[in-house]
Amino acid sequence: MKETIRPLVLEILDESMVHVDEPMSRHTTFRIGGPADLLLTPERVEEIAELCCLFRQRGVPYLVLGNGSNILVGDGGIRGVVIQLGNRFANCEVVGDTLKAQGGIKLSRLAGVALENSLSGLEFAAGIPGTFGGALFMNAGAYDGEMSQVVKEVIYLDGAGDVQTATNEDCSFGYRTSIFSKNPDLIVLGGTVKLEQGNQAEIRAKMDDLAQRRVSKQPLHLPSAGSTFKRPEGHFAGKLIQDAGLMGLRVGGASVSDKHAGFVVNDQGATAKDVRQLMEEVQRRVYQAYGVMLEPEVRFLGEF
Ligand SMILES: Cc1cc2nc3c(=O)[nH]c(=O)nc-3n(C[C@H](O)[C@H](O)[C@H](O)COP(=O)(O)OP(=O)(O)OC[C@H]3O[C@@H](n4cnc5c(N)ncnc54)[C@H](O)[C@@H]3O)c2cc1C
Repeated sequence: MKETIRPLVLEILDESMVHVDEPMSRHTTFRIGGPADLLLTPERVEEIAELCCLFRQRGVPYLVLGNGSNILVGDGGIRGVVIQLGNRFANCEVVGDTLKAQGGIKLSRLAGVALENSLSGLEFAAGIPGTFGGALFMNAGAYDGEMSQVVKEVIYLDGAGDVQTATNEDCSFGYRTSIFSKNPDLIVLGGTVKLEQGNQAEIRAKMDDLAQRRVSKQPLHLPSAGSTFKRPEGHFAGKLIQDAGLMGLRVGGASVSDKHAGFVVNDQGATAKDVRQLMEEVQRRVYQAYGVMLEPEVRFLGEF
């Protein structure tokens, strides 16, 4: 596939934006993952639309990636194309009490712009290591905040390659889900968040407090994808895993963090297979102990 599709891609993108057999371990916070046939870093929406049209015509599978902070890519890599919305889609404009931003901007940067402009509402997001696009896809959230509470509109590319606008209601946000996570044809290009004028010192103090809580409770010094499992109704995944005595449980180079049981960490050069087997073992033992089946929050991509 890559031999036939690469020359066609080069009619749309400069060679510097086309990477063949790109190790996905370089693009995920887990630092795990085999090669993607092609990884593309387009700079313009028109290029993305043209590429998607080409791939659909040719039956080439493709997906869009943000900062790779909520995914586990298989050791066999990704057959097809990965389009990465990164720094080239990272602009943000302040209009009154709203921020209009592109999908590739880091959520921490967006929260920083809010702080600089004394706008309150994104404090919860400052420590989430994803892009705005990935956070909209996941309806990312923390400490009682989530994207759905601040999103006014989302701009996306539909399956026909047309740019569309979705209101907050159109996005069908749920717990770590959205219309985008349910429809692989949609590509989040950016959006508008509606915030409130606030007191800069108070906003900063809240961000500092949440950052401190993360540093003291989470294994931020080791590669991971954050919370491995979703919060089951009426429980906390980390507490169930800890109470089942699974902290430190290991498969190969992956272990259940001994700092926060909700995190699987890559502390000894883990493969994707190690992480997956460890997750299955945790699910099995928690189910045995408490009758609760944990559902992965981390998304699996590619060949395992
Ligand atoms: C240390 C650590 C702490 C974390 N803490 C939190 C937390 O507190 N709360 C929380 O919710 N999450 C947390 N996460 C997980 C992660 O940061 C979030 O889910 C984040 O929103 C993912 O964004 P991303 O850009 O990295 O997306 P990726 O991981 O790159 O992608 C996630 C999914 O979104 C899709 N996607 C990404 N961008 C687009 C786009 N523009 N258009 C269409 N689809 C797209 C991808 O195909 C993939 O299926 C944490 C992760 C780490 C490593």
